[in-house]
Amino acid sequence: SNQQRMATTTSRFHTTTGSDVFSKIIRGEIPSTKRYEDDFCIAFDDLSPAAPVHVLIIPKLHTRGISNLFGSGAEDEVESALPLVTEPINDAEVVGKLFAAAARVAEAIGIDKTGYRLVINNGGDAGQTVFHLHLHLLGGRELT
Ligand code: 5GP
Repeated sequence: SNQQRMATTTSRFHTTTGSDVFSKIIRGEIPSTKRYEDDFCIAFDDLSPAAPVHVLIIPKLHTRGISNLFGSGAEDEVESALPLVTEPINDAEVVGKLFAAAARVAEAIGIDKTGYRLVINNGGDAGQTVFHLHLHLLGGRELT
């Protein structure tokens, strides 16, 4: 049920963890150029930009990706360490808040009128290299 899902999500995802590079960025162990931050997420410039604007928006909670959020998410239960997000949150809210933050960042940078692209890579065939959910915001030129 929805309520079960909410409970599961809360206990499983409201912490972030040790190993992946984006969790380290959240904890400030690796520097980043921040564009936006709130209680739930941070946005920072991609290290290897594929466009004039290339920002990554990530939740301050650890989940490997979309299939872990909306699939079984079994792998996520292995990891837990530093509590950063204390409010209960369900899976749909996680994704929704990332998109909302991306729209705010695009506006702040000034590419909301010219247009931008939002991308989430999930898994190997998509070329996902960092296994901490992230939304790519790409813009500043005409994208092919
Ligand atoms: P993926 O292919 O997993 O969707 O994208 C991962 C992105 O993270 C890549 O675009 C890559 O350039 C970026 N990235 C990897 N390591 C770092 C890092 O340490 N700092 C920042 N700012 N970006 C990173």
